[in-house]
Amino acid sequence: MLIMLSGGRDSAVLLAEYAKCGSVALFVNYGQRNSTPEGIAAYELAKHYEITLHTVRLQGLYPTGAKDKPFRNGVLLSIGVAMAPGLGQDRVAYGGHKGALGWSSYDNSGLFSEAMHAAALRGTGGQVSIFAPFIYQSKAEVLQRGEKLGVPWSYTWSCYGPGPEPCGECKPCKEVKEFGSKRSI
Ligand SMILES: [Zn+2]
Repeated sequence: MLIMLSGGRDSAVLLAEYAKCGSVALFVNYGQRNSTPEGIAAYELAKHYEITLHTVRLQGLYPTGAKDKPFRNGVLLSIGVAMAPGLGQDRVAYGGHKGALGWSSYDNSGLFSEAMHAAALRGTGGQVSIFAPFIYQSKAEVLQRGEKLGVPWSYTWSCYGPGPEPCGECKPCKEVKEFGSKRSI
């Protein structure tokens, strides 16, 4: 399995659940504002779970400072699907889930996940499928699962800011505070 690892909490839970023998992780630096702390988090998590981490770097994907990042999950998953056969993997897993108010964007939903799954299978002649085990679960359910699995939350990075410390003001920072992570302050 190729595990899409953003360094955030959801992908950390995914890693804790599926970092089995033979799996690999993939971090994509697509020019996101928080790519440095996310990359460090992905590295630390991969090291913790003793899984090989691959990194891809994209330049010029979105305009600098763009808030809207259309089809981001589509791009990231496509990269995973493209790389999977060469890395000996037949599934691409990602930590998409349902927020408290429903799915967060057009490219994070059950229907989108199913469409990408179909496209991956079709586009690789059945070699690669998409696996989104949390897609119908809430954030709280995903985090509870992470608690049970003993995810080292202190390694994760949730903030939209560039670091080195979380800003404490953005939406994920506020969620982290509610969740009581050690990294919330
Ligand atoms: Zn923040």
